[in-house]
Amino acid sequence: MNYPVSFFKRKGDQIQCLVCPHQCLISEGKTGICRVRTVLDHELIAINYAEVTSAAVDPIEKKPLYHFKPGKNIVSLGSFGCNMTCDFCQNHKISQQRAKSEVLSIEQLKAIIDRVENNAGVAYTYNEPMMWYEYVYETAKTLKHLNQETSVVVVTNGYINQEPLFKLLPYVDAMNIDLKAYSNSYYKKICGAKLDSVLETIKLANEHVHIEVTTLLVTDAFDALKEVEEISKFLATVNKDIPLHLSRYFPRYKMKNEETNIEVMKQAAQMARNYLNYVYIGNVAEIDTHTYCPTCHERLVERQSGRVNCLIREPICPRCQSDISIIL
Ligand code: SF4
Repeated sequence: MNYPVSFFKRKGDQIQCLVCPHQCLISEGKTGICRVRTVLDHELIAINYAEVTSAAVDPIEKKPLYHFKPGKNIVSLGSFGCNMTCDFCQNHKISQQRAKSEVLSIEQLKAIIDRVENNAGVAYTYNEPMMWYEYVYETAKTLKHLNQETSVVVVTNGYINQEPLFKLLPYVDAMNIDLKAYSNSYYKKICGAKLDSVLETIKLANEHVHIEVTTLLVTDAFDALKEVEEISKFLATVNKDIPLHLSRYFPRYKMKNEETNIEVMKQAAQMARNYLNYVYIGNVAEIDTHTYCPTCHERLVERQSGRVNCLIREPICPRCQSDISIIL
C-alpha cells in the first residue's frame, strides 16, 4: 500500500527524502536506495505500508534480546526494503528486492498479538524496520494507546535520521541495534552506509529505551579482536550495561568467507568483558549464554537448548544485592 512520507524537502522537481542519512534526492517515478520510497504525482510515498512479507512468533531471545522480558514470546513482522546493502545479508530476498506480501491492518495485528500466549508484544524485524517506518510508527503508536503493556521492539541497523527516530522512540520499549563494525570504511565497503549515524542512534536510543547491540564477526572482513575492543570501548562510554551480542557469521548472499572460528569468538567475548557487564556469544550451539551478576557472578537467567529459566523476580542479584540491568 502507498502511504505519504512525513520527512522530506522539495528541491525543484525532485524531493529529498529525510528518513535516513542517505537523504536520497528522488525524481518522479524513481526510487531511493531503499527501493521503497518513490515520488508519485509529485508526492513522496512509501510503497510498503502494511505489506508484510514475513511473520512468526519467536522467543524474544531470538531478536536477540536477553535483558528484556526473558522467556517471553514476541509476534515478529517484516516487510521489504533496506537502506544498507550488506554483502552477508541473510534476509536479502526481502531486504534487497520487493517480495510477495500481504496487507496486515492494525486491527488484524492487534488481534494476533492478543491471541498469542506468553506474548510480550510485537517486534519489527527481518527487513529494516526504519524502511517500513510509516507502518511501524502508526501501529506502534496505536498499540501503545490501546494497551501500554504491549511491548514494542525494533530490530534495526540504526541507520536513521534523528528526527524520525525521536518521533518513534516514545512508542518503543526495546531495540536491538546492529553495530556491524567500528570502521567507516567497513560500513562503506560492505554495507553501503556510514558508521557515525549508527553511533548517534545508539546514543540517542540508550537515553529513551532499553537497547542491546549485535555485532556479526565476519571472518577476514576485519580484525575481530581489534574491532570488538573498539566497539566495547564505545559502548562503555554510552552505558556499560548495554548487552553486547557477538554473533557467529556463516556464508550468506555475496559473502563466501568461512564461518567464524569459535575460538576467535571466545577471545573477542573475553576482550569485550573488560569493558562491558554483559557479553554474549550468539549463533553457536552448546555455549554458555546464561546471564550472571557482573559483581558476584551469581547465575541469574539460564538459557539452555532454547529453554529460558529466569531465576530472579526483580532486577537485583539475590546474592550480593547489586542492581541488575534487566527488564522482567
Ligand atoms: S529512507 Fe530510502 S529513500 Fe529515504 S533517504 Fe533512506 S534510502 Fe533514501
